[in-house]
Order: sequence, then C-alpha cells, then structure tokens
Amino acid sequence: MNAPLKKLHIKTYGCQMNVYDSERMIDILRPLGYEVSDVADGADLVLLNTCHIREKAAEKVYSEIGRLKELRGEKEARGEGRMTIAVAGCVAQAEGIEIMHRAPAVDLVIGPQAYHQLPELIARTHRAKGERLAADFAPEAKFDALTSDRTVTGPTAFLTVQEGCDKFCTFCVVPYTRGAEWSRPVAAILDEAQALAAKGVRELTLLGQNVNAFNGVGSDGQPSTLAKLMYALADIPGIDRLRYTTSHPNDMGDDLIAAHRDLGAAMPYLHLPVQSGSDKILRAMNRKHGRQAYFDLVARIKAARPDLALSGDFIVGFPGETDKDFEDTLDLVRQVGYASAFTFKYSPRPGTPAASMPNQVPEAVMDERLQTLNALIIEQQQAFKATLVGKTLDILFEKPGRRDNQAIGRSPYLQSVYVEDARHLIGQIVPVRIVAVGNNSLQGALLETVSA
Ligand code: SAM
Ligand code: SF4
Repeated sequence: MNAPLKKLHIKTYGCQMNVYDSERMIDILRPLGYEVSDVADGADLVLLNTCHIREKAAEKVYSEIGRLKELRGEKEARGEGRMTIAVAGCVAQAEGIEIMHRAPAVDLVIGPQAYHQLPELIARTHRAKGERLAADFAPEAKFDALTSDRTVTGPTAFLTVQEGCDKFCTFCVVPYTRGAEWSRPVAAILDEAQALAAKGVRELTLLGQNVNAFNGVGSDGQPSTLAKLMYALADIPGIDRLRYTTSHPNDMGDDLIAAHRDLGAAMPYLHLPVQSGSDKILRAMNRKHGRQAYFDLVARIKAARPDLALSGDFIVGFPGETDKDFEDTLDLVRQVGYASAFTFKYSPRPGTPAASMPNQVPEAVMDERLQTLNALIIEQQQAFKATLVGKTLDILFEKPGRRDNQAIGRSPYLQSVYVEDARHLIGQIVPVRIVAVGNNSLQGALLETVSA
C-alpha cells in the first residue's frame, strides 16, 4: 500500500529567481510523498521562500509565521499531526539565527544555496526540532544535485542560468544574500532546456541577478556569453522564444545587442534597470555608469532592434536625492520611454553602505516622488499599449481565461492578451490582431485564417 500523501504549501516572495527555486523545491519534495496544497491550513510542511530586498518584504515573513503558528495549533487540535514550518530564501540567509530567536515556531531555516538538502534536513527536524542550516555559497553543489526533469505547468518556464552578484550597488543586499557571481555550465542549461521543450515549453526566461554577465563554461571549455547561450538554446526544437532578466547596463555586450537583431527567438523586450537619472545619485549608488552612457546604450539597442521595448527598475529617495536629482530621473524616463517599470521607495538594508549614508530622505517625500514617477510610468505604459492596437502580434497562448472558450496569451512584450474562442490554441504561437487596451492587458482577435 502507498504511504498517504503529505501536504506541502509553499509561499513565494520576491523575484522570479525565488519562483524558480520554489518550483525546484517542489520537484525535490514530490518523490518524498509531498503533494502541493494551495492553502497553508492543514499542510504538513509549509515553506516560506523569502525575499530580503526591501524591509517590507522581510517583515511580511514574520507576520506570516505568526499566522502559521495558529494554523499549526488548530491542526494539532484536530489530531492531524504537526505542521513543520521552514523558512528558505534570502531572509533565511541574512537573518538565520535571528529568525530562530525571534520566531521559535520555525523548525528549519535554509539558505538559497542549500535547498537541495531539504529532504535530509526535514528528516532531521522531525527527529530533533530546531535545526538551522547556514547556507554556504556553493551553487554548483545545488545545481548538481537537481535533475533536469522538472514539473511543467504550461508553455513558458523560468530557467536559472546565473546566480549572485559582484556589483555591490550601495543599496542592495543581493551580493550578501546570494553570494558571488556564478554561472551554470552551458551543457547543464541545455539539458534542462531540452527536457522542458520535450514537455511542451515554447518560451524560456533565463534568470540571473546579473544575467547578462553570464559566463558559464561552454563545450569547448571556454567561458560562453549570454548571446552564445541564446543561440544554442534557440537551436533546440520547440524553443521559439527567449527572454532574460535581470540585466545590468554595463554587461550589455555587443554580441547580445546583435542577437536582438539577428536571433528570431530573442523577444523584443528588455528589462534594463537604471535606478536613477541623476549622475550624482548613480555615483553614490555605485552603479558604475552615468546617465549619458545609459542613453547611448539604449540608442545602440534600438538601432539594432527598432521595435524593442524597455522596462526598468527605479528607486526614489536614495540618501541625498534632491528635488533636482528626482527631476533628472523623470527627465530620463521621458527621454527613454518605458513599456513598463518597477518603482520602489529606497529601503535601508542593514549592512549595506547606503544604510549609514547621511541625508536619508523623509518617508513623505519618498511617497510623493513615488506617486509622481508612477503616474508618468502608467501614462507611458498605456501609450505604448495604444500603439499596438490594430497591429498583429504573435501570441503564445498559455492558459484558459475566465470566459467560455477564452484563452490568455502572452505578447512579445510580456503583456497578457485575452482572446475569445482560442482555447484550442493553448501551447501554440499564433498571430493575433490587437483590438483594445485594458488596464493590465490587451484584447485580441484571431485572424480569420487562424480561426477558420
Ligand atoms: N540586478 C538587478 C539590477 O542591477 O538592476 C536588480 C536586482 S534587485 C533583486 C531588483 C530591484 O530591487 C533593483 O533593481 C532595485 O530597483 C530594487 N532594490 C534593490 N535594493 C533596494 C533597496 N534597498 N531599496 C529599494 N529598492 C531596492
Ligand atoms: Fe543588487 Fe543588481 Fe546592484 Fe547586483 S547589480 S548589487 S543585484 S542592484
């Protein structure tokens, strides 16, 4: 007789790399008899895959642990056994011991480079509660321990190709939580991509904190580049679309820019964070480039691929940011024009140089600047979407929509596109005419040749 299935609930915070890590943790735990549950209530194992990038993201974890403690009590009162609570990801890495002190309900703390050891660690916590694992920075060991056989949920997938960061922007915790820059070998990435393609994946998003600094060793024993990797991936039958995130402007090599011109699979959409439009703030952030260098880079990319659209990340209220510096950011946004962007209030992170810089910006000023910037970005986002109305775009259909026979697809620019009578096309890339713009999506119609 098979052992009864145990319920696993994973809550993922933060970036796409955490989404990828959560999927891999599920793959590791499934053979041990865990099935995924959408809710924490009644789960035998709850994993919080955490983010430390901003204070709010880290604090959310502690309030969630409080809620889980109550659910654990209720589960035990129902005679359903104990709920194991594990904290994974970057908060685990940055605050390991502190979590154990501050939240004694936590059974296990596991850093981002150690989750392949989950089965063993969970077994150990079941024997003796209160195990803590300080993750070392040895991503090789983690990736070596993972099989390339992944559970696939649709025609798109994330694939981590690079981890860590050596850039040390003065506001950022990533170099401390994810360690030094490290790239996976090309052969291991191709294996994983082939397995995904065999399961119907058509679009890959290559992930890395500094993905365009990818330099994984190739079959010739020499460091590859992201562009070379993309050509090799595009040769895999079934892989039709490639994206990558997140890129640093200084690592945008000529061959990568040329790939946007020459490689059909390279999507015309690029996340290229600049953080600020002020030279003074860029220097204080240690971004290692100025605003003119960013303008020049954008011009070179657009010359190679005129239909390419950009997204970005911006931080408002970095220490010492004046009204004039903020104006420079607005001016940069107006000059570049973004199809979308993520905007953040500066959040001081313990241990980073910026946290102890003078002239921290008051919260109310940050709030106001964020609102102003968001209004500009939304205006640009809507204007960009409006330019697509009447055009025909290739849409990768991903999943059913809410309405009868409706399907939701993804445009080359990562927008959701709702199309009626298209469910039979899920998993396929099909030309669609864009007919209307919504707040967060586009409405499309099949061409007669396709629907017939
Ligand atoms: N490596 C990427 C780059 O250099 O653009 C970014 C990685 S980080 C996970 C994602 C974004 O979080 C950053 O681009 C930045 O805008 C934001 N961020 C990082 N640290 C922050 C902080 N202390 N306060 C506010 N936003 C922050
Ligand atoms: Fe953080 Fe990105 Fe700067 Fe690295 S390059 S320190 S991940 S913001």
